[in-house]
Amino acid sequence: MKVLKFGGTSVANAENISKVIAILVQESKKQNVAVVVSALGGVTDALIKTGELATEKDGSYITVFENIRERHLETIQTLMPKAQSNAVIKTVEAKLEELKNLLHGIYLINEFSDKTRDKVLSFGELLSSYIISKALKLKIEKSSLKDSRELIVTDDLHSQANVNTNETNIRISSFFKSNKDKVVVLPGFVSRSEEGETTTLGRGGSDYTAALIASALKVSDLEIWTDVSGMFTANPKLVKQAFPIEEISYQEAMELSHFGAKVLYPPTVQPALQKNIPIYIKNTFQPEAKGTLISKKAASKNGPVRGISHVENIALVTLEGNGMVGVPGFSKRLFSTLSTAQINVVLITQASSEHSICVGVYSEDAKLAKRILDNEFAYEISLKKIKPLLVEDNLAIIAVVGDNMKNHQGISGRMFRSLGQNNVNVRAIAQGASERNISAVIAHKDIKKALVSLHNRFFEKQVKTLNLFLVGVGNVGSILLDQILQQQEYLNENLLLNIKVVGVSNSRKMVFDEEGIDLRHWKDLIKKGQPRTNQTFFNAVKEFNLSNSIFIDVTANEDVANTYASYLKESISVIACNKIACSSTYKSYRELKDLSRKYGASFLFETNVGAGLPVIYTLNNLINSGDKITSIQAVLSGSLNFIFNNFNENNSFHDVVKQAQKEGYTEPDPRIDLSGVDVARKILILAREAGYRMDLKDIKNESFLPKGSLEAKTTDEFYKILKANDSHFETMYAKAKEKDCQLKYVAEFNEGKAAVGLKAVDKNHPFYNLEGKDNIVLFYSERYAQQPLIIKGAGAGAEVTASGLFADIITLGRN
Ligand code: ADP
Ligand code: ASP
Ligand code: MG
Repeated sequence: MKVLKFGGTSVANAENISKVIAILVQESKKQNVAVVVSALGGVTDALIKTGELATEKDGSYITVFENIRERHLETIQTLMPKAQSNAVIKTVEAKLEELKNLLHGIYLINEFSDKTRDKVLSFGELLSSYIISKALKLKIEKSSLKDSRELIVTDDLHSQANVNTNETNIRISSFFKSNKDKVVVLPGFVSRSEEGETTTLGRGGSDYTAALIASALKVSDLEIWTDVSGMFTANPKLVKQAFPIEEISYQEAMELSHFGAKVLYPPTVQPALQKNIPIYIKNTFQPEAKGTLISKKAASKNGPVRGISHVENIALVTLEGNGMVGVPGFSKRLFSTLSTAQINVVLITQASSEHSICVGVYSEDAKLAKRILDNEFAYEISLKKIKPLLVEDNLAIIAVVGDNMKNHQGISGRMFRSLGQNNVNVRAIAQGASERNISAVIAHKDIKKALVSLHNRFFEKQVKTLNLFLVGVGNVGSILLDQILQQQEYLNENLLLNIKVVGVSNSRKMVFDEEGIDLRHWKDLIKKGQPRTNQTFFNAVKEFNLSNSIFIDVTANEDVANTYASYLKESISVIACNKIACSSTYKSYRELKDLSRKYGASFLFETNVGAGLPVIYTLNNLINSGDKITSIQAVLSGSLNFIFNNFNENNSFHDVVKQAQKEGYTEPDPRIDLSGVDVARKILILAREAGYRMDLKDIKNESFLPKGSLEAKTTDEFYKILKANDSHFETMYAKAKEKDCQLKYVAEFNEGKAAVGLKAVDKNHPFYNLEGKDNIVLFYSERYAQQPLIIKGAGAGAEVTASGLFADIITLGRN
């Protein structure tokens, strides 16, 4: 014999019930079956609602009642022909009338005690089992209905009754001994107290009903049929990557369900375990799927962790005080007070020390827990021996479960590293004595992030997802998006990196997609985006709360640079091509570096110097490996190099600058380049990265421009001054030429001092042949004392700058 249980969704309507019947027809050909059914999906909740409305004297309870009625009648009419349905409807209407009277009574006396509540709720299962048994009768003649209340005997703890197993076993076996039907349908969830009152077994309790019958009859199999194909590695509604566990032990299943895997009601396992009856979790809507087998010994396929589950709505209750030290009995009083009030302790933390005990309870019990415990310890509290109970709410428990975890080292290390890396703050930790589970109390808002990252850590090919939030889609930004689109597949396959652009914005609008923005259409999407400010963009990134989030600044905007700290504080990494943050005050540069370390978030800005050239990367490697920079000589301005490479006796300085601006090599205001400020910023960043504490004012900057030109009010006026001073530049050029030298705008750093300025370099100098808009950097260090380490190549241009940003993204992904 077998016991099959079908849950609420499986019997939600006539169409689904037909599927159930088809399964039963097949099964009953092989052996006799007992079938336990839940109420039609959602009906238990609706029944609670009617009771609550009625007791609040809210007449709309009738509307909810009518909905329940309609659903049942419609199910009957669709399920069977008129010839049969009329009689069934008559019986159901009579039962519903009974329910209506009961609700009216609640409305009149406005009281909805647990005892009455059980009565009201029992209608769900009583009606569904009756209807299903009648429909089944049309297919299987030798089938019948049995009211479980006549079999399952409990105490009178209404809503959560405890089963008298001895008496229950006797009744179940004696009933089935005399019953020879192929199929017996029984309502789940309902039972009866020794006093003869209807009781219920707790929400989700139909699973337990089935297990009680299975155990009493020592059947071959217990099958729990539901709407998913087994017990999953994590709640499939929250973790897309979760998959059904093929085999799992009783203990593991118990732990997972205790910690929230709703697919199985926790008390269900015990009766099956005692008789060693295998439990299968099967999918009514996909009967061919393998499902999960719960048994004594389970083969392990996916490593030591079997599953991850979580419980929402948890509060931590802490009893604390110096008066507890060395005085026995505090924890006994705490637990017995909670137990007397029927408050379930979901978790006891290991952190319990001599002067504090901390337990996790359901949020709905938190208020009561505080009241009764403050009362229990009132005397000690008045003497200030202990503090009034501390309650922290809006928490959740996340549990990693597996029998084999105890034989593997480092599981908890991996678990907490993964949570830490994703900025999930852990409030409390508990480990089962059997080492079968490790659980952590976290903030409710972090549930999804924690589940997804732990699932990824323990169950998935280690593809790391990077969630990018990019601001600035000008030339460089849009090329970067193109490059990402091109490389996505390659990176996934070769580096196990999944690069997802979750947010993109220009200065006015922003668009987000948690699944990753379709990069072929980002331009259109952004047009339809929401209005943006730095604050709203930050809020959105924070709200997503995704692991490995990276903020990418491809603007040259100071206000954007001012937001980096807030990202880093949320453990969101920052990649910037914007130079402003790193070249502002030393204090704020230092603060960003420190925040990056403190919150474990990277702060990368390779493109601040030399565009895509690995200048900062190389410098960092020298320093990190113990070298010391003594001197840096560099040409760091692509635009100035272009200008001085093109300026000669056949043109004017004015015209060359104009041309450079036209070709996009200079900033819109060319004075930013020509003044040397941009170069000064770059050498400042290099000096800082080399470990020197410097500010912009410490960098000597002697301008080569004619007097007064930098003070010009507009760019036009500036150009006029350049034109008027043609001879100034001609002389400069002629002097250099005379000595066979080239003019180069050079940045220098020597033993803690830095300067930028125009220099005439001779043929033997490495800068002499620097072409086009190239950059060059010479690092002299203790190790590179005679011959410098040289980095040379294109130092400006959108394409190379974008690829420098991309390199930062990949570096971060490989960390
Ligand atoms: P039924 O009405 O059939 O008893 P339940 O709603 O009680 O069904 O349980 C099935 C649901 O449990 C699934 O639809 C799923 O959303 C949820 N669930 C939570 N955790 C898990 C898990 N680890 N594996 C499978 N389902 C889970
Ligand atoms: N109908 C009950 C509930 O919704 C019992 C069950 O479905 O298992 O909790
Ligand atoms: Mg259930």
